[in-house]
Amino acid sequence: MHDPRELPAPAAPEVAFVGRSNAGKSSAINTLVNRRRLAFVSKTPGRTQLINFFSLGPAAFLVDLPGYGYAGVPGAVKQHWETLVGEYIANRDSLALVVVVMDIRHPLTELDRRLLDWLKSAGRQAHVLLTKADKLSKEGGKLALAKVRQALARDYPATSVSLFSSLKREGLDAAGAAMGRAVDAFRAQKTRAPPKGE
Ligand code: GDP
Repeated sequence: MHDPRELPAPAAPEVAFVGRSNAGKSSAINTLVNRRRLAFVSKTPGRTQLINFFSLGPAAFLVDLPGYGYAGVPGAVKQHWETLVGEYIANRDSLALVVVVMDIRHPLTELDRRLLDWLKSAGRQAHVLLTKADKLSKEGGKLALAKVRQALARDYPATSVSLFSSLKREGLDAAGAAMGRAVDAFRAQKTRAPPKGE
């Protein structure tokens, strides 16, 4: 079982990507990695459940968290996900933003909402990335975005959202802007109030 103490020491603000399996998280990361020429930094040990770190230039890291919500996963695997990712999200000092990747055709499922509730209670900044936008028409995409935006404004007012397509390489600027804003805000906050022990 993976031990969170094996993670690299926090060195710069981190933007973590999380999503239900098959939502399109790996594709979105690859698209952003190619765009930004991210360097692969480290892979924590473990068989299927890994936390991967990529450098986002010298100033930040992109962190790939294992997917959740596999149909029929045994309790032990589910528990492992919860322990591994729970630990990271709850305690990681350098975590600036959690990008929650959702398939635009199935946004805000019960599981997604549970995750957003948890992020909110942990005081974590979140951004919803509605990917596979190419599966809908332009109008359909706009409508889906508006609906999710409305639901977020009601239940998670601090959470932003944008459209994305790995296939068409669309939405990269909006995703990059959300990540940049969060990293800047995180840095400003750290400068104002350094955590204990620093
Ligand atoms: P993950 O399990 O969340 O990492 O999902 P993947 O990135 O592996 O993608 C799951 C499936 O969705 C794969 O078959 C991908 O080819 C497909 N997919 C991912 N992103 C897109 C996208 O933007 N557009 C389309 N049309 N398919 C996508």
